[in-house]
Amino acid sequence: MKRLVILGAGTGGCMMANKMRNKLSASEWEITVIDKSRNHYYQPGLIFLPFQLYGYTGEEGNVRDTTDFIPSGVGFLEAEIQRIDHENHRVETSAGSQEYDRLVVALGCHISPDEIPGLTEGYGKNVFYFYTYPSALDLQRALDDFDGGRFVLDIAETPIKCPVAPIEFACLANYYFTLKGIRDRVEIAMITPMESVFTKPICSTIMGDLLRERGIEVIPNFSLAEVDSDKGKISSYEGNEERFDMLVAIPPNVGPEVLDNSGLGDGNGYCVTHPKTLAATRGEDIFVLGDCTNVATSKAGSVAHFEAGIVAENLMRSIRGEELINGFDGHSNCFIETGFNKAHLIDFNYTQQPVPGTLPLPVVGPFSLLKETHMNHLGKLMFRWYYWNLLLHDRLSGPMELFLPTRMSTLGKDPALLNRKAA
Ligand SMILES: Cc1cc2nc3c(=O)[nH]c(=O)nc-3n(C[C@H](O)[C@H](O)[C@H](O)COP(=O)(O)OP(=O)(O)OC[C@H]3O[C@@H](n4cnc5c(N)ncnc54)[C@H](O)[C@@H]3O)c2cc1C
Repeated sequence: MKRLVILGAGTGGCMMANKMRNKLSASEWEITVIDKSRNHYYQPGLIFLPFQLYGYTGEEGNVRDTTDFIPSGVGFLEAEIQRIDHENHRVETSAGSQEYDRLVVALGCHISPDEIPGLTEGYGKNVFYFYTYPSALDLQRALDDFDGGRFVLDIAETPIKCPVAPIEFACLANYYFTLKGIRDRVEIAMITPMESVFTKPICSTIMGDLLRERGIEVIPNFSLAEVDSDKGKISSYEGNEERFDMLVAIPPNVGPEVLDNSGLGDGNGYCVTHPKTLAATRGEDIFVLGDCTNVATSKAGSVAHFEAGIVAENLMRSIRGEELINGFDGHSNCFIETGFNKAHLIDFNYTQQPVPGTLPLPVVGPFSLLKETHMNHLGKLMFRWYYWNLLLHDRLSGPMELFLPTRMSTLGKDPALLNRKAA
């Protein structure tokens, strides 16, 4: 019997377990998924939860048992992964070691607040986060009592998961304070270490204008060095300071330490990964997807989905002894919730930036790219159902794949804009 071991039962791990059980004969291949937790969180819900918007009030609907998404014929081991001994094709865990013939790594990434002096000291007083479920719920309670002042959203450093989540959070804060009737008493600022609010030029301009139109101050080039919660002040490595009454920080995001400790990581916990084949470059018979890769695209569930198709194809090729395909183009897409029942949508890849247009079909859409519409907002809200019922179970093959192709489609997009570089 041969063994496929999948590390991580989050978005990428569940999709791969379902995909590979369909592809590999059960009489020849045993498949095991390992994760330290049985709780599977719907992370896109974290932007709504602090504001209790659209029915996102608690864990109901947002947290499920991971084993609901592990198909029959696949084993699940609840254990901490401690080391990947890739030379001997073995994974060491808190529940013993597991040998493998092929390994899939989908261990995600997580926040590391301890890296910023003062950040954890102020937590729960006037400093909050929303990148984990418990912290989003803490912020929800604090927002109930907040009745005015300088409300600062600060991205400590990049890369972060879901790079548009800060834009969404700032827009939803504006919406929330408006609904609460205190918008005129709240100054909202979004502080970023980047030169603008997003990495790609057309999207950055459109989103930057949108934030300013909503009275949200954007402060770029500010890399968070220190938080002084007593004085309500943050300072940057560039030598600047900003004042806050309530700080919502996005702490540094890091990959799992086990990847660095096993000689597979880039020093920040991200697995050194071939950008097109998605094979680990520092170990053999290992493929990587989701937030724990070091490939230069967004850390998003949509990306894990597009990567899963290529990882499955290359796993099969590697088993048959065939050459791997350079199939991954960096495809990423994401709705950007902007409040007042509207959202934007972006779709891009390694070389082509987000541009206005329609998705998936030219002219008819029904979704609009880089345009605020109610239909996009409905798509954003539908995504949770789609995630639990289709995406994790890998029920998107056949006609659904035409709507969400692994490689980015240029249909409905202006080719001249797609390839335009920053001025
Ligand atoms: C606020 C927010 C909003 C978001 N919004 C969107 C959105 O709108 N659209 C979108 O596409 N994406 C969004 N995302 C991103 C999306 O949730 C992630 O990109 C996606 O879940 C990544 O999947 P993954 O499998 O790589 O990692 P995860 O789903 O995080 O899974 C990693 C798994 O590995 C396990 N693990 C880690 N280390 C170990 C270890 N040592 N031992 C055992 N188990 C371990 C963890 O327990 C976890 O279950 C958002 C994320 C956040 C934080």
